[in-house]
Amino acid sequence: MNELMLKIKDRDPAEKEFHQAVFEVLETVKPVLDRYPQYRQSAVLERITEPERVIMFRVPWMDDQNQVHVNRGFRVEMNSARGPYKGGLRFHPSVNLGIIKFLAFEQVFKNSLTTLAMGGGKGGSDFNPKGRSDNEVMRFCQSFMAELFRHIGASTDIPAGDIGVGAREIGFLFGMYKKLRNEFTGVLTGKSLNWGGSLIRPEATGYGNVYFAAEMLATRNQTFAGKTCLISGSGNVAQFTAEKVLELGGRVLTLSDSSGYILDEQGIDAEKLAFVKDLKNIRRGRIREYADRYPEAVYTARDPGTGFNPLWNHQADCALPCATENEINRQDAENLVQNGVRLVSEGANMPSTPEAIDIFLDQGLLYAPSKAANAGGVAVSGLEMAQNSMRINWPREEVDGRLKIIMKSIHKTCLDAAAEYNEPGNYLAGANIAGFVKVVDAMLDQGLV
Ligand code: NDP
Repeated sequence: MNELMLKIKDRDPAEKEFHQAVFEVLETVKPVLDRYPQYRQSAVLERITEPERVIMFRVPWMDDQNQVHVNRGFRVEMNSARGPYKGGLRFHPSVNLGIIKFLAFEQVFKNSLTTLAMGGGKGGSDFNPKGRSDNEVMRFCQSFMAELFRHIGASTDIPAGDIGVGAREIGFLFGMYKKLRNEFTGVLTGKSLNWGGSLIRPEATGYGNVYFAAEMLATRNQTFAGKTCLISGSGNVAQFTAEKVLELGGRVLTLSDSSGYILDEQGIDAEKLAFVKDLKNIRRGRIREYADRYPEAVYTARDPGTGFNPLWNHQADCALPCATENEINRQDAENLVQNGVRLVSEGANMPSTPEAIDIFLDQGLLYAPSKAANAGGVAVSGLEMAQNSMRINWPREEVDGRLKIIMKSIHKTCLDAAAEYNEPGNYLAGANIAGFVKVVDAMLDQGLV
C-alpha cells in the first residue's frame, strides 16, 4: 500500500487533495485486503484509484463588456462498476484536476453506500460565478455544456450541482444540453420542480446530514432537542442542515461564507434563516449583512494568518461543517473538543484534515465522515432519476420518507462494517469498508475492463 501511495504521488505530484482522500481510504480498508487476498491479486486498489476517464476542455465565453475569458472545464468519470457515473459540478476559482479527482473518488464510495445503482464522477470549472450577471453565467454554462454534452447522458453520466452550481446553473446547463441533443431526458439532477426536478432534492444533503447525526445521537440515547450547533457555510447544505436542526429542537449559533462568520448567541431561528436564504439565494449577498440586520449577532472577518478558524472555537454540543474541504485542522479540532463538542457530522466533502479526524476518534466523539453523512444529496438525485425514468413525481412525504430510510440504512451499514472489522463505533472505517467492498465486488464480477 505504501508503494501504491508513492506511485500515485509520483505520477500526479500536485494533486494533494486526491492523495489525502486516497490515503484515508487505503488506511481503513487494509484489514479487508488482509482477509480477502483475491482483492490484492486482482489489483483492485490500483484500479479503483485510477479514473476510468478524465475529460479536460477549454471553456471560452464573453462577459457583458464583450471581453473574452477562457476557463478550464473538467469531468472525471471515476468508476462505473455500480451504475452510470454520478456526481456534481463545482464552479469555483480553486477548482483544479486534483480537487475534482478527490471529489470523484469520494463520490464512488458515497454512491455505493446509498444502495442505489450509481457509479461515481465529478466535474466543474475554475470559473467564479460570484459577481457575474445572470447573462454571463448563462453564457458560461452554455459554453461549458457545448463540450460536456458529448460525454454525458441519462444512462452514461448524470451531473448535478455542488459549490457554485445551484438551480440557476442547472437550468442553463440543461437548456443547452436539450438544444444540442434535441431530447428531454433526466441527464442532470437538481432540476427545478416544474420541469423534472424532485421535491426534497434542494433540502436532501442538509436534511440527510442531520438524519444521520440524529441516528448517531440515538446510539447514546440522545436527541437534537436543546443541543447547540456550530454550522459553517451558508449555501445549500448549510441552510438545510440548519433548517432540520431547528426542526428537531436544536439551536444554531453560527453560519459563514468565505469572507467570515456570524455568531448569534440568541440562536438563528426560522425567521433569521429565511433572511439568510433570501440573502444568499436571491440577493447573492455576504453573510456579514446578517449582523447588520440582527445586531445581536457578531461578525468576524476571515483571517487566514491565524492558522485556525475562530468559528470552531465556541462552546457547543455539535459541529456541522458545511462549507468546503479541510476547513477543520488540528487546532480547530482541539478547540472543538475543549469547547465541549461531542458530535461532528460532515455536510461538506472532506472538511476535516486527517490530523483533526485522529483527534475526534481518539477523544471518542461521534464522528460522521462526509461520504456517509452527506450522501442524502446524491441519494435523492438517484430518486430524481428514478422519477424521471418513470415520468412521475412523488409527493414530498414519499421522497423525505425514502431519504430517512436511506440515511438510517447507511448509518447501520457503517456500524455493522466497523464492528465486523473490530472497529466498533468507528464510522470512518465502517463507511470506507462498506463502500469499498460493494464497488470492488462489482468490478470483479465485470472482469478486467
Ligand atoms: P454552495 O455554493 O451552495 O455553498 C458553499 C458555501 O461554502 C458558501 O457559503 C461559500 O461561501 C462557502 N465556501 C466555499 N468555498 C469556501 C472556502 N474555500 N472557504 C470558506 N468558505 C467557502 O455549495 P454547497 O452548499 O452545495 O456545498 C457545500 C459543501 O457540501 C461542499 O463541500 C460540497 O462538495 C458539499 N456537498 C454538496 C452537495 C449538494 O447537494 N449541494 C452534496 C454533497 C456534498 P462563499 O459564498 O463566500 O463562496
